[in-house]
Amino acid sequence: MQTITTLPNAAPAPLFTLRGVCKRYQRGDETVTIFDRLDMDIAEGAFLAVMGPSGSGKSTLLNLLGGIDRVDAGELRFRGERIDAASEAALSRWRAAEVGFVFQQYNLLPMLSVARNVELPLMLTRLSGAQRRERVATALELVGLAAQAQRLPSQLSGGQQQRVAIARAIVADTGLILCDEPTGNLDRAASDEILQTLQVLNQEFGKTIVMVTHDPRAAAVAGRRVVLEKGRFIAEGEAPVQAPAPAVALAA
Ligand code: ADP
Ligand code: MG
Repeated sequence: MQTITTLPNAAPAPLFTLRGVCKRYQRGDETVTIFDRLDMDIAEGAFLAVMGPSGSGKSTLLNLLGGIDRVDAGELRFRGERIDAASEAALSRWRAAEVGFVFQQYNLLPMLSVARNVELPLMLTRLSGAQRRERVATALELVGLAAQAQRLPSQLSGGQQQRVAIARAIVADTGLILCDEPTGNLDRAASDEILQTLQVLNQEFGKTIVMVTHDPRAAAVAGRRVVLEKGRFIAEGEAPVQAPAPAVALAA
């Protein structure tokens, strides 16, 4: 006789759980409250867009999720484990294993080749040179830049540089990509390429993506959107995942 030991519909633990998260900054002798008891869950495999006016705490939220800033109070859990209380050393190991970052300004090192830039997150791992090169080749292939591996960042367009940054964010095969206005410096065609790449990473490779954006077109590709204002979520919406419109419209 068979017994059912698992519940097929049991919800998995969220990737992130925030409970009562508080974050403040000191500005002179004034204390600025960014988050006051923020609660939030982020599901594994989500593609979440975070919107809101400048100064509303979007980057702060990404920094907290990525373990490059600390909550002042409350709990921040990753797969059920508290990371708010982790030591600096544990946090940086966790970050290397779990988190990829993509920034508006690409943050590539100008004197290193594309391949060397992408390889950087692997330099602290135990992978051999051959293994690192293979990972770099796979990541560059994925973003469509295999042919540019030996170029310098300055020889690439902005959109290509951002794709290098995405390759760097995924090269260590982390499950989470945190993007801070990844299309903020790009024209529409380049933005669409970045958004399509992020969609592929989310849908085909199961990466969880949290993307801060001002761009409604970027937000439209995300499965879930939240709007931050004055340290609170003021709106939230689910959206059917849709491809961005073609970058080049055919003339009538
Ligand atoms: P957003 O990304 O939504 O524009 P941020 O998260 O960068 O907003 O910043 C939220 C608020 O916190 C802003 O008022 C900003 O000036 C302040 N802030 C951010 N980082 C610091 C810091 N390291 N020290 C002091 N104030 C900060
Ligand atoms: Mg910001």
